[in-house]
Order: sequence, then structure tokens, then C-alpha cells
Amino acid sequence: MGVYAWLWALNRPADAEPPQHPDWFAVNAAGKSCHRQENRPFVSYYQFLCPNREEVRHHLLREVRRLAAIPGISGIQADYIRMPDATLPRHLWDYYGLDMSTPSPKYDYCYCAVCLDKFRRLYGRCPLAAPAEDKEWLDFRLNSVADFYNMLAEETRNHHLRSACAVFPTPTLAAEMVRQDWGRFHTDLALPMVYHSFYDEDDAWAVDITRRAALETDGRIPLAPGLHLPDIPPDELAARLNDFLTTGCHGIALYSDAEITAEHLRVLQQWMAEQRYRIRQDARHNR
Ligand SMILES: [Zn+2]
Repeated sequence: MGVYAWLWALNRPADAEPPQHPDWFAVNAAGKSCHRQENRPFVSYYQFLCPNREEVRHHLLREVRRLAAIPGISGIQADYIRMPDATLPRHLWDYYGLDMSTPSPKYDYCYCAVCLDKFRRLYGRCPLAAPAEDKEWLDFRLNSVADFYNMLAEETRNHHLRSACAVFPTPTLAAEMVRQDWGRFHTDLALPMVYHSFYDEDDAWAVDITRRAALETDGRIPLAPGLHLPDIPPDELAARLNDFLTTGCHGIALYSDAEITAEHLRVLQQWMAEQRYRIRQDARHNR
């Protein structure tokens, strides 16, 4: 058993510091920054910061050090290691009244001066006018997010703690949707949020996509797929957990603590007791 501190990394709505530095915020292809509420995509808590700003990097390293000083924690779990959604999961298009089948500059980040300048110095040119066709520009931004995570993870491990991250279902999907190619992350544990209802899919999809994530990362990243509890009736929970065990995953995450019911907890405790019994029996047989 262990407790991980929860770190909102590139989206920091509860942090008083960033609003004092308007230039810390991520900027979209239309030149609008997440600093001003009226320019934020989808929801007002989308207050994403730029992964390439030195001041942002130092600020988040300070946050890691602050969390690492909490006595008794085993690690830090980073969340929101990504850009705003260039594409939302299919189910949410209707919710926001959007058709996201073609990319829009409104939802494509980060085009701030620092990112554009860094890209220009590396590649000797500006991003193409049609960013969807600019593989180097996409690659640059995927690396920017991955490098940001890897910096935080390294600092976490310097404090002898484990670094985990909550991510979108597979590196390919995550890169496309939120510029989060987590196959590039040096992480001790990835928690892919395989929320099937968000994608208009069924629970078999969640198991399949977990297998795909393991394949895409050649099994080198320990996975703990994250299940969305409101989609799982308590009497189906044990079967769902058993399905996920067949993927070879390292653990299973249940989101969120506010949505777990007394009945879910009862089923979970019974299931865990059965697993402990099975592990003991297996150990006895293998002796
Ligand atoms: Zn930027």
C-alpha cells in the first residue's frame, strides 16, 4: 500500500501564481492564450501553461519539491500532462455542440512566442500554415510535453519517490487528442483513463485499448488502466476487474473516490480477498 500525491501539471486552475504571469499560459494557433477566461477552450478551469517556458518549468519543479516533502508518501501522480483537447472524445462533441472531425486553430496549442522561437532555432523555419501536415511541428510539441513530464519525473525520483501519470488511453490517441505521446514518458506507472462511455464505446473496448497501449509501448511501461466508476454497476465490478487482469496490467485504478458507492466498496473488498486467497493458493502449489 502507498499514497501518491496528486499533481496537476500543465493545467493549474487552483494555483494563485500563474495568473500573475500572463505569458506563462499556452497559446492556440489563433493567437489566443488560456490566461483570459473568455479565451479558454471548453471550460473555465482549462488554464493550461506552456511546457517550454523556463519560469513554468521552475515553478512546477518547486511544486514537486513541495509535495516530495510530505512525510510518508510513496510517489507523485502527475495529471494534466498535456495540452487542451485538439479533439475531444466523441461523446463530448454533442455535449459542447461541436463537430471536431477537422482540426481547428482554436483548439491547437502551444503557439506562444517561446515555442515558435525554439522550433525556429531547431528547424530553421516556422511551422507550416497547415499544421496538420507539419510532422516536425507536431513532433516538436509532443516532445515538449514529454520532456516536461520527464523533468518532473526525474525530480520526483531524486527524492526517492515513484513517478506516475494519468494519461489518455493509448500514446497514439493521446498524441492526436491532447499532444500527449506518453510512449515517450520515462514513467514508473501510467494510468490510462479508459473511460469507454466518453468514447461512445462498450466495456470490451476498454480492455482492448489497454492491450493496445501495452503493445504500443512494447510492455516497457507498467500500466494501471483507470476505470470510470459511474459506468460500472457494482454487480458488474468484479467481472470487469477480472477482464482487466487478463491484459497483464500492473494494477487497476478506479476513478473517482467521490463516485465510489458503498456497494462498489463491498464488491471490491470481497474481490480483493479472493485475489489474496488465489495468490496464496498459487504460491502453495508452486512450492
Ligand atoms: Zn509555448
